[in-house]
Amino acid sequence: MERVELKLEQGEVHVYLEHEAKREWACAECGRVCPLYDHQGERQWRHLDTCQYRTILHAAPPRSQCPEHGVRVVKLPWAEANSRFTALMEGIAIAWLKQASQKAVAEQLHLSWDEIHGIMERAVERGLGRRKTEKIPYLGVDEKAFRKGHKYFTLVNDLSGNRVLYVAEDREQKSLDGFWPTLTEEQRNSIAAVAMDMWDPYVKSVREHLPESASKIVFDKFHIAKHLGEAVDRVRRHEHKALKAEGDDRLTGTKYQWLRNPGNLEDAQRRGFKQLVYSELKTARAWALKETAMVLFNYVYEGPARKHFRYWYNWAVRSRLQPMKQVAGMLQRRFENIITYLRHRITNAASESINAKIQWVKYTARGFRNKQNFINAIYFHCGGLDLAPAPTK
Ligand SMILES: [Zn+2]
Repeated sequence: MERVELKLEQGEVHVYLEHEAKREWACAECGRVCPLYDHQGERQWRHLDTCQYRTILHAAPPRSQCPEHGVRVVKLPWAEANSRFTALMEGIAIAWLKQASQKAVAEQLHLSWDEIHGIMERAVERGLGRRKTEKIPYLGVDEKAFRKGHKYFTLVNDLSGNRVLYVAEDREQKSLDGFWPTLTEEQRNSIAAVAMDMWDPYVKSVREHLPESASKIVFDKFHIAKHLGEAVDRVRRHEHKALKAEGDDRLTGTKYQWLRNPGNLEDAQRRGFKQLVYSELKTARAWALKETAMVLFNYVYEGPARKHFRYWYNWAVRSRLQPMKQVAGMLQRRFENIITYLRHRITNAASESINAKIQWVKYTARGFRNKQNFINAIYFHCGGLDLAPAPTK
């Protein structure tokens, strides 16, 4: 160390570093000992605060000349290349960012948004670079809207590891296509099944990139339940209108009762709902169709499950309930990748804890100026990555 300068008014401590007078330095690329070439101009690094003072290191790092790699700045013991923070400072910021909002960390550590985003970006890059190539038997492909009705993102989750493997903009085929090259051949072959929505761009991507994909795509049962629920709701709205015109308001305020699992209703509600369920209403028939369709997922064996579905499908198409007929047609077309559930038993709900974290990321996302920052934040919080700066000495 050469000298320390206190700038008390600015609340800063400046530490000027000098190195030993060596004529030879290891190449940052290959480690070969090479002659000193010159020194970079003075650079600064923000270090951990000294008491309440911001501490800034100054140094002019030496550059070595390697016969193979040319002129390179030597590896510094306190910071990674291209960082304006010491590894200790960056490590602390990362630990804080894991726990608190970006805004709180920016305020506490006196960092700008750009600095926060830079720290997160480097951390994610390190983490992705350190990923191992372990087997990933169960994937979940999910879409997320950044804000309701806004821009979509495609997420690939490791359902057994409970982490996000991949994030991309949009929900096009190319959004998912970008995922496959991130896997090794072995990893790709280790995939037993993929849970996803009935969404053709994703289906196409899986078909093009995953061997024997026909038996590996499992349409998410909650997504199927959602389609059935929407069909019931269309029947209800239509019928409600007709009943109201005759002064019958039995269906008023019942929307959510038909959608919810009856087990979740309050006692008083359940009694009223029971009367509706056993009535001659079209909505009651649609609801019974929905509940019966979902029984499929309780089967253990495929044979009886197929039989159940055929019975259900015939009932649905003869129900004279247009929305139910439509949804039955869709499930019939998709059936071979619905019944795969019985073999693999996976759904996207396995990533529930990932979803909770993503909610938190969105909630604390006021600083996101672009989509890449949002993508980085998802990797940072949900990627299960080793983010710490490399110990440099
Ligand atoms: Zn070299």
